[in-house]
This record gives sequence, C-alpha cells and structure tokens, in this order.
Amino acid sequence: MSTVSLQGVRRSYDKTLALHDVTLTAPEGQVVALLGPSGSGKSTILRLIAGLESVEAGEIRINGELVSAPGSTLATEQRRVGMVFQDYSLFPHLNAAANVAFGLDKLGRAERDEAALRWLDRVGLKHRASAYPHELSGGEQQRIALARALAPQPRAILLDEPFSGLDAVLRAELRDATLATLAETRTTTIFVTHDAEDALQAADRLVILKAGRVLQEAAPREAYDRPASLDAAAALGPVNIYKGEITNGALQTPFGDINAAHLTNGTSAQAAVRAEALTLTPNGSTRVISVRPHGAHDLVKIESQGVTWRALVPARMPLGDAVSVTIQPAGAFVFSA
Ligand code: ADP
Repeated sequence: MSTVSLQGVRRSYDKTLALHDVTLTAPEGQVVALLGPSGSGKSTILRLIAGLESVEAGEIRINGELVSAPGSTLATEQRRVGMVFQDYSLFPHLNAAANVAFGLDKLGRAERDEAALRWLDRVGLKHRASAYPHELSGGEQQRIALARALAPQPRAILLDEPFSGLDAVLRAELRDATLATLAETRTTTIFVTHDAEDALQAADRLVILKAGRVLQEAAPREAYDRPASLDAAAALGPVNIYKGEITNGALQTPFGDINAAHLTNGTSAQAAVRAEALTLTPNGSTRVISVRPHGAHDLVKIESQGVTWRALVPARMPLGDAVSVTIQPAGAFVFSA
C-alpha cells in the first residue's frame, strides 16, 4: 500500500477539458471517494492513475515515485495498481478461482491456487470457487473482481462505481463488506461514485468534483459541516439556494437570519440551506405544498414569498396545511455570489 497523489493534473479530449488543475491525495491505507455528477472527470482520474492514459500537465506519484508527467507515463503493469471496473470484467470462460488466480502468474501453480482460495475466502466466496461468472449474482461477481484485484497485493486499488447497478439493500451490504475487506488489508483505495450517501458512508476522505475541477477535498464530516462552496454543499444532499444581500452581518430569509459575519455588508450573497436544516412545526403561516416519503424521512415542499423550499423531516410527522419554519444554523452556509 502507498500514498497516491495528483498535483496540478490536466487532461483534455479534443476540445473538452476533462480535468483542470486537479490536485488530490489518497493517503496510505485510506479510502478516498471521488464524488461528482456524470462527466465531472472521475473515470478520467482513475484511468490516469492506472496509467491507461497520459497527463498533459502536472504529475502523479505513487509512494513518491513519479509515474505520470507530460511525455512520460509508466506502463500500467509496472504501477502495481489494482482495478475493479463497473462491469467487473471477469473472464467469462474462467471460474471464480481461476479469475482470482489470473494476476498471480509469478507464483507456482500450487501456491497460486492456494492464494486464490485464500482471497475468495476473504470476500466470503470460497464455496463458489468453481462457479463461472454467469452463475454468480452481480454482488458475487463484484466480490470476485475485488478479490482478483487485491490478490497481487497492489500498492493501491481503484474502483469505478463499485456499488452501482445493485438494489439498495444489497448495495449497502456490499459496500460494508467491501470496506471491511479493504480495511483489513489496509489497501489505499480510490473509488468513483455519483452517490453522496455511498461517499459519506464509505470514505475516509472525499474529493468533490464538478466539470473537471476539485471543489473540495476533506473528511466527510468536514465536507458536510463546512462546505467550500455552494456546489460543494449541494453535492452532499438536497439544499435550498436563497439569494440576497448581506445586512448587519447576516442574510435575511423568510425563516430568520443566517449569520454571514465573514462577508461585508452590501455583498450580494447566496445561502445553501440543507433540506434537513429546516425545522417545521405545525401551525404557522408557511404553506405546505406536498409531503412525500424519502427514505427514513419525508420530503416536504413549502412555499414562502413565491419561493419553494424543500425540507427533510422525520417520516409521518403530522404537519397540516401550514407550518412555522426555522433554520438550524449548522446546516446553513452563506457564500458571496
Ligand atoms: P465521469 O467519470 O465523472 O462521468 P469522465 O471522466 O468519464 O467523467 O469524463 C469527463 C469528461 O471528459 C466528459 O466531458 C467526457 O465526455 C470527456 N471524455 C472522457 N473520456 C473521453 C474520451 N475518451 N473521448 C472524448 N471525451 C472524453
């Protein structure tokens, strides 16, 4: 295991600037999530770290060793980086054990078979050693792909949308099982996701991306509690955006002032208010437009002065047609517009 770092990395395709000045670190033994919408550059970062493509500017280092710089790209085989792709890419004509043994060609036959079984055991699938990929469920295939990537003891492992394409319950189970395996092996991990919950639940550090740029790199708690920008706040869950001008060190909203002492009076500003930072209580002057189940919560739309706000409240809370609303300061952030 090793630290993986990117410094000032740029990459474009024809006229598309896929990555712009990307700097990030995956510290040794930690799990880092690259979080961003489709097209934000997540997969490109993985391909560059894997050495499948070259950088135009900047550099990539694995444990201090320079592996990518403009005009110089260390071959993928020499990087000792494991990869698990979205479609798992298992060899269809090889059974589970043979898939895992595939990358262990430096070992003798007996040792290789023994190592493959040990890795299958680690992901809880020793009993499926002789099954072929088409006989395995999506979750099982993902675990086999993980065992195959880990078996050669790579310096780091890259996972592209590892939990997508699975239903919600299986997804959470697989996420936890994968993390447990990675934690046990203390493998430096970088995984790509567009799902904020996956990122918050699974990662030691988040790198939030948008349009090829890093919006914020932080531990999940810090990113959640101290977003660097409006977009960084919105990346981690539903937010309400409210525009106004700073007066008396605050932004005034229909639901009270939000502290903005860091901005000078008269600045035009935007607040990001997390949906869960709105507290609703029955009886008030704010109209309730709709109430919909949203996982463990209800998503409530309310309207004030022609603006619709979204609030996440405990499920089945009796609210009536109108409510009073307050904003919890811990979930409200003001940025200059
Ligand atoms: P993500 O993984 O976040 O969905 P990608 O890294 O796949 O984003 O893509 C980032 C940007 O680069 C997108 O605008 C995408 O269209 C472009 N891009 C990625 N790969 C290629 C390619 N091989 N050829 C042309 N454009 C590409």
